[in-house]
Amino acid sequence: MGGHNNHNEVRTMTANQTDQASKSSQTSRFSNPMDWKAIDRFILLGSLVLLAPLLFAISILVVLWVAPSFLNSQVAYALTTLYAAHVLVMLGFIAVALKKRHKQEDWPMFENFIVGSFTAVVMLSGYATGSHFSEGLLLLFLGVNITSALAHVKKIRFLFWCVVTALVCLGINDLFGWLEHAPLLERSLYQPDGTPHILWWVVQAVMALILSALIYLCLLAVGRWVERENLYREMSTIDGLTRLTNRSSFIKRGDEELARLQRLPSDPSPTLACIMLDLDHFKSINDTWGHHAGDEVLVVASKIMMDNARQYDEVGRYGGEEFAILLPSVDLALAEKIAERLRKKISEAVVKVDGKAIQFTASLGVASFPSEGLENMNDLLKAADAALYEAKEGGRNQVVTAKRRA
Ligand code: GH3
Ligand code: MG
Ligand code: MG
Repeated sequence: MGGHNNHNEVRTMTANQTDQASKSSQTSRFSNPMDWKAIDRFILLGSLVLLAPLLFAISILVVLWVAPSFLNSQVAYALTTLYAAHVLVMLGFIAVALKKRHKQEDWPMFENFIVGSFTAVVMLSGYATGSHFSEGLLLLFLGVNITSALAHVKKIRFLFWCVVTALVCLGINDLFGWLEHAPLLERSLYQPDGTPHILWWVVQAVMALILSALIYLCLLAVGRWVERENLYREMSTIDGLTRLTNRSSFIKRGDEELARLQRLPSDPSPTLACIMLDLDHFKSINDTWGHHAGDEVLVVASKIMMDNARQYDEVGRYGGEEFAILLPSVDLALAEKIAERLRKKISEAVVKVDGKAIQFTASLGVASFPSEGLENMNDLLKAADAALYEAKEGGRNQVVTAKRRA
């Protein structure tokens, strides 16, 4: 059995297991880089960015080796020197950052260097090979995707506009030919008969390799975003201790159910019942056995409620030791039976803490919709709460329904 939302599988865990589950979901293999301190994220980003000049330099050296006649050797050496310098400076930054990381959280200068130099190197390479509108552009935008998860979005956005401006300038230049087009290439990679030279395939293969690696990294980054989104959604709707729906999402679900009922009067059983449950003398459980024992009792009581819920019921932690259960398509008489069964199960449960057996009871109030004077979710909760109050007054460990009370 389970509850309505997507967390059934973790709902029946003990508090301790729950803690471990949420930790392990964040550390599938290594912890989420978005949780790292800034300087550590920059070390990772710097190491990734390092791959760009490294691969560019290697591909130029390979071409210089197999088919030197295709390259303008002066430009080729100048670019290779620049790539080597980029790699060396980046390695220097990384080495210093590895030392600083023990004392320092952030290092904006390192971040500026990473994102700035990456942009410059990719743009320059795109211009040098005349591929700034195809591979260069793609590389850069994939780069933006990855870096935005690891660096400050404001800086990435600034660089994005710098790149767009540079691309427009390069496009105008292509049109008017002020600056030489593809200065790295001495000859066209296309042969006179129109077929591409073998070198063209080499360049394409290198680009495909770089792009595949970047796309893979993008997928990892997006996966981390999704993981984080799910965690936030869970944190905002689920109670951390009992794994039950929290108060606000419980009320939201109730509002939705009522709206559905009022919209579909042809429903064969247009009812919605609500049980309010409060553990009896819970303060004295805390006082006698300790707060951790109280927590364990809350977890066990929640498990009993969840195990007895149908798929479309909603079990929520309404307050400290107060719970609410929403039962769509259940009328008052049936809800009373369900409440009575719950009361009995709870009174029979034994919680073992520190080798001691703890027993506890609960008082329950039941109300259902439609009923006279009930118009919205707030009225339904109030009616169930008033019945619960009466169960407490009547001596606790009992069920009171709103109808009988009236
Ligand atoms: P009654 O039968 O009238 O409901 O009495 P009670 O003692 O259950 O109610 P009271 O409202 O006096 O005390 C509720 C206690 O629940 C007080 C609070 O410290 C405790 N409590 C609330 N949340 C938690 C929790 O998450 N863990 C633990 N261990 N105790 C909690
Ligand atoms: Mg209580
Ligand atoms: Mg209470």
